[in-house]
This record gives sequence, C-alpha cells and structure tokens, in this order.
Amino acid sequence: MNRLNETHDPQLKSWLASANVPACDFPIQNLPLAVFKRQKSAEDFRGGVAIGDQILDLRAAAAAGVFTGEAAAAVQAGAQDKLNALMAMGHAAWSAMRMALSRALREGASAQAALQACLVPQAEAQYDVPARIGDYTDFFTSIYHATNTGKQFRPDNPLLPNYKWVPIGYHGRASSIGVSGQQFRRPVGQTLPPGTTAPTLTACKRLDLELELGIFVGTGNELGEAVDITQAEEHVFGICLLNDWSARDIQGWEYQPLGPFLAKNFATTISPWIVTMEALAPYRVPFSRPADDPQPLPYLDSAANRQDGALDIQLQVGIQTPAMRAAGLQDASICRTSYRHAYWTVAQMLTHHTVTGCNLQPGDLFGSGTLSGPTLDQAGALIELTTGGKNPLTLSNGEQRTWLEDGDTVILRGWCEKAGAARIGFGECAGTVLPARSI
Ligand code: MN
Repeated sequence: MNRLNETHDPQLKSWLASANVPACDFPIQNLPLAVFKRQKSAEDFRGGVAIGDQILDLRAAAAAGVFTGEAAAAVQAGAQDKLNALMAMGHAAWSAMRMALSRALREGASAQAALQACLVPQAEAQYDVPARIGDYTDFFTSIYHATNTGKQFRPDNPLLPNYKWVPIGYHGRASSIGVSGQQFRRPVGQTLPPGTTAPTLTACKRLDLELELGIFVGTGNELGEAVDITQAEEHVFGICLLNDWSARDIQGWEYQPLGPFLAKNFATTISPWIVTMEALAPYRVPFSRPADDPQPLPYLDSAANRQDGALDIQLQVGIQTPAMRAAGLQDASICRTSYRHAYWTVAQMLTHHTVTGCNLQPGDLFGSGTLSGPTLDQAGALIELTTGGKNPLTLSNGEQRTWLEDGDTVILRGWCEKAGAARIGFGECAGTVLPARSI
C-alpha cells in the first residue's frame, strides 16, 4: 500500500526559511496541529499548524480565504478552541487540509503573502490541551516494560499469561491531563512503607515518569459496533508525546486486584503538537512477532498491519534538576529508544478497545504504555532504570536520581529520520514536579 504522496517529498521547501533548516522538527513535510494563543494575551485559543519556528494561525488563515472546498472546511473546523470538530471530520478532510497546506506553504506558492500575515512565532505562544478529551485509556504495549516491572512486583511470574494475547490497558483519568509546561504537586496517598504492616498517608516518595506516546482518536464509532482492524487507522487523528507520571509507592499498595488507580490520576502531560498519521507514513515499519510467540487472534491481524503497522519513532527522555537549571545546564539524557519495539500496534489497540462495542469519540486519547526497548538504556521509566530504586542513576552533571525530586523537570522528545525522507519531530513534552501539599 503506497501511503506516500507529494506532501512527503523530501525535496519540498517552504517559503519560510526556518522550516528548511536541517534538523528542524517542523519542516513542510510535518504540519502537526496544536491549539495556541499569544502568551499573556486575551486572545482565544485556536488551532494552529507548526511550520519552522512559526505557527500558522488557522483562524486567521480561514478568514484570509486562501483555501477552498474540503480543505477550507477543515481549516474552519481547526480554527475552534479545541480540535474535536476537525477530528470528527475524518480522514479525507484531514488529508485534503494537509495537501492544501503543503501547496500553500511551499516555495513559490501564490498564497505566501496572505499566509505570511497569519504566522505567530512559536516563541510567543502558549498552548492548551488540543482536544476535549472525553476518555483516556492507557495501554501497556511494551513487553520489555511489562517484563521489567513485572519482575519487581512478581519475581517468579513477571509476564502474566494474557500479555501476548490481549493489548492490556486500563481506563485512566482525563481531567488531570495537561499540556507541556504542566507543573503539578507531588501526590499524597496511602502507602505501605517497607517493613511495616499498616499503611500511612504520606507524600509520594517514589515518583516516576513514563515515556509514552499519546494517540488521539479522530472519528469515533457507534456504541455496539466494533472497528475492524482494516479500518482502524482511519479513526486515528495523530500522535503526540505523553508522560504518564506514576507514584510507585501508592501503586504498589493499591494495584491489586483492579490495577492502577490513584497512582496515575494526579497528572499526565502531553506535548502540544499532534503529528498526523499521514505525516508519519514514511516511518512505517513491519509488525512482527517472534516465531515462538503466539500470533495475534484474527481480529487483531491484517496484511496491512503485518506489512507496516508499526512506527519507527525515535524517543528520548531528559531530566533537568534544579541544580542544572541554576547552572544554566540543559537536561541530562536518561533514555533513548524507538516506538518500533512495541508489542502491539496502534491499529490493534483501537480495534481491541472497540471489540466489545465500546464507542470511541473524537478527542479520546490512548496512551501507548511505557515504551521501553529491549535493553536497559532504552527503559522509559525510573522503576526500570534504577531497578526499583536499588541502583541510582548518575546524571551528566554528577547528580544522582533514584526517583524524581521536587523541582525536577522531565522532558520527552520524539522525532523520525531516515535516508530518503524528511526528518520530522514532535517538539517537546515538559513537566515539573512541585512540592507536595502539607498534610
Ligand atoms: Mn502508563
């Protein structure tokens, strides 16, 4: 299946010079969406498209009358303060908008003068969560994360027998999802300190991050209907970065028998930019299973899913401690991996979620689960990187971390690159831990 078209041509250049800089996250081949306004302004939030170091304001672009037909309708929907209306329009409309934007932003476009007046510098922007997220579901699609964490909770039985058959997940909390820049208080909760027999209410002492991707549902499905795997990706609007902050001590005491609850409900941070599935087309890779593992049940299998159902998205995690900030240092890298190692694909997650007849709605969000790769330096959470807190990490400035400390900022980054395709990026997803409230 050829998913590529003229918008993916690596030779394309924009009339905006900053979009043509090598290693730019937002070249003309990317065109991700966010909602934004100018910082400290009384403006409304509205949709925008990243290009170079600027944002194309979709409200201004709609008013400029540059676009026609289905693309114009999509740009108009994207001018609202949340992207749900655009998400609900469906794949054909998103694709028409991408084509029109690509043609209007490339070198020599007649729309240049009109659209130049619709640009806002990213440096002046404030972002919001891009959709009204009705429901949030967090999956568990890295078998390496499942095995590494399972060893700590159940040394004799790390990977439960359903893992290779079911894309495991739990229904999460949408109200505390924030956009990059989110600051949140260290959670308070009930924990059972080691060596004790009765729990206490304390500030979390084992605060962790989880490197994940967020998958935004575009068009939904009717209650009672299932989405066939061959149609599943048509329902997906795009992908962002997601940090599923986790209180491991609260989790350890509460998680049996019903799974994560308060350990995950106090904050989740996502990147402002949603990279569309169409933009990711050059970075599709085959999905395969080790020969000794069970193959997916037929409803979770398709020729297209096997051929190119996985995505090679490069991922990196950094921590910037208060001492680094004070010294003017960048964050220290603690993990580098790729989404290609996931055990289940986006299509399998969406199909499995609806197999019961569960209805998805535009703007619903899936978390991929912590995306640890096969080796320890590819682990996407401190619980793995420090082996449950036993082996502290030494950061590049000599500081050590076992768990996150107050004032720490965690920054997730994602990008795709390979020969013969334009490099595209996700920008950053940053969040900062504040001290717990007093109890
Ligand atoms: Mn998670």
